[in-house]
This record gives sequence, C-alpha cells and structure tokens, in this order.
Amino acid sequence: MAAFSLEKLLVLQDRDSKRLAFEQQLKGVPREIAAVEAKIAAEKAAIETAKAEWHGLESKKKLLEIEIKSAEEKVGKYKTQQSQVKKNDEYQALTHEIETTETTIGTMEEQEIGVMLLIDEAKKRFAAAEGELRQNIKGHEARIQTLREREKHLQGDVKAAQEAVEAVRPEVAEPQLRLYDRLAIKPGHPVCVTVNGDRCGGCHLKVPTHIVVQARNGTEIATCDQCGRIVYWQS
Ligand SMILES: [Zn+2]
Repeated sequence: MAAFSLEKLLVLQDRDSKRLAFEQQLKGVPREIAAVEAKIAAEKAAIETAKAEWHGLESKKKLLEIEIKSAEEKVGKYKTQQSQVKKNDEYQALTHEIETTETTIGTMEEQEIGVMLLIDEAKKRFAAAEGELRQNIKGHEARIQTLREREKHLQGDVKAAQEAVEAVRPEVAEPQLRLYDRLAIKPGHPVCVTVNGDRCGGCHLKVPTHIVVQARNGTEIATCDQCGRIVYWQS
C-alpha cells in the first residue's frame, strides 16, 4: 500500500474545486441567456399587446361608423316617407322616429370621438413599446453574444480543469482515492478539511483527541468521526 500523501490529496482537492467552480459557471450561462431572451420576448409581447389594443379600437370605430351610416339612411327614409303621408298622426309618428334616431346618431358620434381618443393613446403606447425594444435590442443581443463567448471559454476552462484533475489522480494512492471519491459525493466538497483546535473544519463538531493527534502526525489518514471528512493539521 502506497504511503499516505496529504500533499497529493490537497492538490487533487484544489484542482477538483477549480473544476467544480468552472462547471458551475458553465451551467449558469444558459440560464443567463434565457433571462435575456425572456426580456426580449416580454418587450415583443408588450408591442403585440399595444398593437392588439389599437386594432381592436379601430374595429370598434369602423363598426360605429357603419351603424351611424345605417341610422342616417334610416332618417333619410323616414323623411321621404314623411313627405308622402297624408294623415297627421302618421306624420307625427315619423317625426318621433326621426328624432329618436337622430339622438341615437348623436350618442354614437360621441362614442366615436371617445374611441378616436383611445386610438391616439393606444398608438402612442404601441410606438413607445416599439421604441423601447429598438433601444434595447442591441444591448440584449450584445449581452447574448458575450454570454455565448463566455460559454465557449468556460467549456475550454472545464476541459483543462478536468484534464488537470485526471493528471493528479494516478498520483494519489488507490484506497485514499476511493475514500476521496466517496466523500466527494457525500458529504460533498470540501473533502479534506483542517482541524481547528479540536473541531472539524467541515462539520464543525468536536473531534476526539486521538484523531487530532493522528491528523497532527500526518503519517496516516485521519477522518472526522462525525462527517467522515479527511482532517489534517495546518501548522
Ligand atoms: Zn466533520
């Protein structure tokens, strides 16, 4: 069995933590890109919403115009009828119809003015939403570009870090490597921790004296009896 080498284990751990940090950063990039893409999508959606509002109001205006035109035609028809009737009560009835229809036309015309004002506001909102995207899109695209470049760099960093880890692994004795790998999964990094006073640097619980002594001697591997991590003495 190869001798216990704390130094090699610490080199492995150091390289492993660098690898993990790069992997973590690389994993975060797609999320950051997605966040920028979500911003672009939200700005585009705001444009679509404003456009839909505007178009809805235009339809409402057209509908009112059609209704006003047909009411005006009705008034014209009543007036023609009125010029032809002989009886006074029929004449009066038509006068009433004309007045009622003209009142309705007046109301609809007022509604149309209201709708036109709303159209102006909707157009402004649409233009503002479009302006916002136009102003931001370059920044958004540049950010995505930067993130994609960062992703590429990080892929290189991860690869180099993985290779550095692989280079040192054969230098660690097999049983220690197995222990290291097991601890790397549970309780997880860091695997090798210092004993501070009489406490484990990983779980912060008290370590029995004989383990502290063992760690201090450094001739054989010492592990925390609580969390299992490899403990070492830092002078
Ligand atoms: Zn511990």
